[in-house]
Amino acid sequence: MSCSQLSSKASLAALPTNLRKSQHQARRHRGCYAVVRISALAQRAEYIWADGLEGSDSKGLVFNEMRSKTKVIQKPITSLDPKDFSDWSYDGSSTGQAEGNNSDCILRPAAVYPDPIRGGEDVLVLCSVYNPDNTAHATNTRALLENLLTPAMIAEKPLYGFEQEYTMLEKSGNVHGWPLGGYPAPQGPFYCGVGSESVYGRPLAEAHMDACIRAGLGISGINAEVMPGQWEFQIGPVGPLEVGDQVLTARWLLHRLGEDFGIVSTFNPKPVKGDWNGTGAHTNFSTESMRADGGMVAIKAAIEKLSKTHAEHIAQYGTGNEMRLTGKHETCDINTFRSGVADRGASIRIPLPVQLLNKGYLEDRRPAANVDPYVVARLLLKTTFS
Ligand code: ADP
Ligand code: MN
Ligand code: MN
Ligand code: MN
Ligand code: MN
Repeated sequence: MSCSQLSSKASLAALPTNLRKSQHQARRHRGCYAVVRISALAQRAEYIWADGLEGSDSKGLVFNEMRSKTKVIQKPITSLDPKDFSDWSYDGSSTGQAEGNNSDCILRPAAVYPDPIRGGEDVLVLCSVYNPDNTAHATNTRALLENLLTPAMIAEKPLYGFEQEYTMLEKSGNVHGWPLGGYPAPQGPFYCGVGSESVYGRPLAEAHMDACIRAGLGISGINAEVMPGQWEFQIGPVGPLEVGDQVLTARWLLHRLGEDFGIVSTFNPKPVKGDWNGTGAHTNFSTESMRADGGMVAIKAAIEKLSKTHAEHIAQYGTGNEMRLTGKHETCDINTFRSGVADRGASIRIPLPVQLLNKGYLEDRRPAANVDPYVVARLLLKTTFS
C-alpha cells in the first residue's frame, strides 16, 4: 500500500481499532511521518471540555455534550501534570457558552491522561472553562465542587463509584441492533447477556473499556444492560474531582470511538418510551467513617440527611429524569424518597454486602445518565456534611 493510500482517513476509519493501530505503526516505519508531522518532536494534546448547550438527540431529549480540539505542541510531552499545559481559548458562541460579540472562553487544563487512540506521547487534556476575567464560567461545575471542599471533607477521603449507563443508536436514531422500525423480544435475556441474539454493540463497549484502561482512568467494569443496545461502564472508586474528570473523559472517548464504529451513544434518560428501562447513573458514595467498622451508623446518618434534601438533588440530577423515575423499571417515583437494603426500587440502596459487613457505602440511584458528575459529587458531599 502506498503512503497516500495509508493516509486516506476513509480507509483507516473502515478498519477495526487494533488493525488501524498496526497500519499506523506501519506508516511510521515506512518513514512517511514527514508528510503528516512538521517535526518528529511535535506531539498532540486533545483539549476536551463540556459545552453549555442542552443539545437534543434524535428523540428530542436534552443533554450536555463534549467538545474538543487539538493542539500541536512542538516539543516532547514529558508530563501528565495539568500545570505543565497552557491555557487555551475557543469560540464560546458556538458552544452555548458566550455571546457572539464577546465570545472568547478560556480552557484551563484540569487533568491529563495518555491518549489511548493516538498513542505515543500524545495526551488528552480535560479542561474546565473560565471567563476572560479569570472568573469561573457559569457552566464550570468543577469550580463549584472545588470551592465546596473543606479540610474536614478532604480528611474523610470521600470516594465515588459512578455507574454510567448509555444507549447505542444507529446514525438514523434507531437503537443499535434493533429491527428497523420494530422491537426486539421483551426485556429479560439482555442484562449481562451473551450471544448475538441478545447482545448488541459489544465491539464498541470493549474498545471503550480498553481505551479507558490505557488512558489510566479508574474504570472498574462494564456490562450489557436490561434494554438491548444499552450498556454500562463504571468509574471508581475515586475522589470527588477525579470522578468528574474521569467520567467526562470516558464520555468523550465513547463518542470519539463511536465515530469509528458508526454508533452514536446517547445519555438520554428514557431513549425508548414504554416498557423499556431508562438510562441512569447510579452513584455509589462513601466516606472513611462509612468504610470503617460499624460504618452503617454513618451510612444511616447520611441517608437521613439525604431524605431532607430530595427536591434539591432531583432538580440537578439530569434533564428529562422525570421520564425515567416513574416507580417502574427498577426506579423510585421522582416525588418519593425511599431507602432500602438490596432494594432496586429505592432512591438510596444499601447493597446487601454492605448490610452484611455493617460498613461500606450507599448507592444513590436517582441521577440520570446525562447528569453532570461534578454536580452529583458536590451535592452528596454538601448534604452528607451539612
Ligand atoms: P450495581 O450492583 O449497582 O450494578 P456496580 O458494580 O455496577 O453496582 O457499581 C458499583 C460501583 O461502586 C463500582 O464502580 C465500585 O468500584 C464502586 N464502589 C465500591 N466500593 C465503593 C465505596 N466504598 N465507595 C464508593 N464506591 C464504591
Ligand atoms: Mn476559527
Ligand atoms: Mn451497575
Ligand atoms: Mn445499571
Ligand atoms: Mn447500580
